[in-house]
Amino acid sequence: MKVNIHELKKKSEVEIKGVQPITLKGVNPLHPSLDCDAQVEGTVTKVGSRYVVKGIATTVVKLLCDRCLEEFDCPIQAEIYQRYSTNPNEEDEDIFSISGFEIDLEDVITEAIVLAVPMKWLHDASCKGICKVCGVNLNKQSCQCDADEIDPRLEGLKNIFHPQSEE
Ligand SMILES: [Zn+2]
Ligand SMILES: [Zn+2]
Repeated sequence: MKVNIHELKKKSEVEIKGVQPITLKGVNPLHPSLDCDAQVEGTVTKVGSRYVVKGIATTVVKLLCDRCLEEFDCPIQAEIYQRYSTNPNEEDEDIFSISGFEIDLEDVITEAIVLAVPMKWLHDASCKGICKVCGVNLNKQSCQCDADEIDPRLEGLKNIFHPQSEE
């Protein structure tokens, strides 16, 4: 998604609205490179030689549930805020320089989406996960295992490593 800064010659603000295809790397082990489309809405405001891009990017990212390991669609909404400058002597490192007449928003949108991906991925807050004993997906099937059952030989170790876990 590109913004032509010539559009800001006569007015101080332009709206941006469109779809930015992005590629996410490393967020889903099944898809090392994951393509998705981000819907972007926002504004570009001109302040002297600087341009401020503000907006919201929304997309749906395929993630793996941490508990049941099933793939699910996770809606993501990310805030975009980035300043740019046409001044070649700009000293502020947080301000990206514009070369040419265009601001390319792809990297900024991709980064915002990556940062907005939650640390803990659950397909549903009530996901029952996988039985640690027999491995069935407990959301789909039930089993007869007692998941809390711990081999008595391991019980001693558990207390060494997690002395508080016996509450
Ligand atoms: Zn799950
Ligand atoms: Zn089981």
